Amino acid sequence: MKKHNFSAGPCILPEEVLQKASEAIINFNEDNLSLIEISHRSKPFVDVIEKARSLALELLGLENKGYKALFLHGGASMEFLMVAYNLLNKKAAYLNTGTWSDKAIKEAKAFGEVIEVASSKDKGFNYIPKGYSIPKDADYFHCTSNNTVAGTQMKVFPETNIPLVCDMSSDIFSRQLDFEKFDLIYAGAQKNMGPAGTTLVILKEEILGKVERHIPTMLNYKTHLDKESMFNTPAVFPIYVSMLTLQWLKDLGGISFIEKVNEKKAALLYGEIDRNPLFEGIVAKEDRSIMNATFVLKDNTLTEKFDKMWQEANINGLHGHRSVGGYRASMYNALPLYSVQALVDVMQELERKN
Ligand code: PMP
Repeated sequence: MKKHNFSAGPCILPEEVLQKASEAIINFNEDNLSLIEISHRSKPFVDVIEKARSLALELLGLENKGYKALFLHGGASMEFLMVAYNLLNKKAAYLNTGTWSDKAIKEAKAFGEVIEVASSKDKGFNYIPKGYSIPKDADYFHCTSNNTVAGTQMKVFPETNIPLVCDMSSDIFSRQLDFEKFDLIYAGAQKNMGPAGTTLVILKEEILGKVERHIPTMLNYKTHLDKESMFNTPAVFPIYVSMLTLQWLKDLGGISFIEKVNEKKAALLYGEIDRNPLFEGIVAKEDRSIMNATFVLKDNTLTEKFDKMWQEANINGLHGHRSVGGYRASMYNALPLYSVQALVDVMQELERKN
């Protein structure tokens, strides 16, 4: 039986997507060739990338609104660099809510002044700072919608007149937002979309062309916009699997449908964390992520017992990030409610036995 997969990323993908993806490796489109041995410029693959691009925009409600979708290389980490390379002229504003924001800030500092409008680093990133103000003369404001490591999530986004840039790597396509508020969104594929190896970038072309520096070809968004993600060989397999996952989500009813499922899963697990006297959550309740729930055992002497129990219950990927410890249950779109129930059952069994 397939394991209940709470891995933080790469992570669970829908069974039917894995099935179709594996078939395409052997025989794509019944053409007696593998998807990964045909030209990326052949019609069958161009159709795939075009569909992936249009599905991404459609699901976010950004079709015909001046946005373009790109599939780039280098992971979300490359976007930490590319955002600053392409947009930072003199100064940029960043909200520091976790490990990944911190890394984005570090990259941006090589290109100009970085104003950290607020940070929760002092408390191990266990909350989302609020009530900060954003300088009106900054080139852009950057934030991270979901903090995969700490398990916090931004519930509101600031109103600002400067371009809004967001790293949505770990919660893209999981909840309804007013996506039109954002000028550039990026996300590594390996959470709610597909395998590692491609990064979705959605941007408005009008925010480009405002920096004076020379931008190396591969790091220039304009290169990829002009060539529709085909300047060099795109990551054909990750893009194909992303397309399948986006189609799966559309067929289910899109983001508005999956958001309700995600809220149900999160309510079930957080309900148990709060009820069960053996466990406690580690982040501010109002900032809890519906994707990554972090929690600890109040009594460390139970660690070995609990770890053995969940592993025997066919559960995978529950250990917290190495920098935080404790536990992290990642409940991405493809994780079924019954997997969360399986974890809750183990937590209750531990309570009964102690
Ligand atoms: N941002 C966030 C929010 C992430 O969760 C991650 C990876 N877990 C990254 C950025 C880095 O992504 P990548 O490994 O694709 O560079």
